[in-house]
Amino acid sequence: MQAESHLQHREIAEAASIIASSRYVVAMTGAGMSVESGIPTFRGRDGLWTRYGQPKMDGFKRFNDDPAGWWERNLNRDIDAHIIELRDALVAAKPHAGHHALVQLEQAGALNHVITQNIDGLDSRAGLRNLIEIHGNRSRLRCLGCGERQSLGDFVPTEPPDPCQRCGGVIKFDTVMFGEPIPKDTMAAARAEIDQADCILAIGTSASVRPASGLLWIARSQGATLIEINPHETSLTSICDVVVRAEAGDALNRLASFW
Ligand SMILES: [Zn+2]
Repeated sequence: MQAESHLQHREIAEAASIIASSRYVVAMTGAGMSVESGIPTFRGRDGLWTRYGQPKMDGFKRFNDDPAGWWERNLNRDIDAHIIELRDALVAAKPHAGHHALVQLEQAGALNHVITQNIDGLDSRAGLRNLIEIHGNRSRLRCLGCGERQSLGDFVPTEPPDPCQRCGGVIKFDTVMFGEPIPKDTMAAARAEIDQADCILAIGTSASVRPASGLLWIARSQGATLIEINPHETSLTSICDVVVRAEAGDALNRLASFW
């Protein structure tokens, strides 16, 4: 991979040139970004589902059917082994060179906004300011009634949260569960960013998880230039203007060096 990535100089220079001449640049990041911080993916060769088997995709329904029971099981770690592995990896993860490179690009004025599909909070930990976490963030709680978020910081809940003080609604982790719609305000904010963008960086995303991936096709149909950074071919590759076949950390680090 190392030797191969060195062959991408031309593509990275081309990407830098497009970004520099664009008016509004948005990056969409996916699991390929987190994996370099030691967070396992669901899909793929070493993915959690490949190793543990794919669970039923009804997490949100199970939560809604019995929120108190869900919290009880969750706090007692009476949950699937693959979720425990994921949770422990999230706790241990730290931002890598790619996260810091995004911050560098933002501070240089070359990157306007990041939409991440990751729930690890590593972008904001690295210092990124303009960020939409489209699948939520594990270190926040969210009310299902009024949508209010509450940051947990490093606090780890040991008891099920009380109902929302504002509306009496049920509280869950902000992380979007399987079967749960993306909160309307989050989706609208992401769409507004996409609508402004004339250049999109698709980083480490297989572009297969809807509706987040649909935003990339919308951007394309609105005439945005698409740049893919991914070591693997994806369903997006064929509609991209520039394809950088490299790991996110390596490619972003080299890209940021142009500023
Ligand atoms: Zn509420």
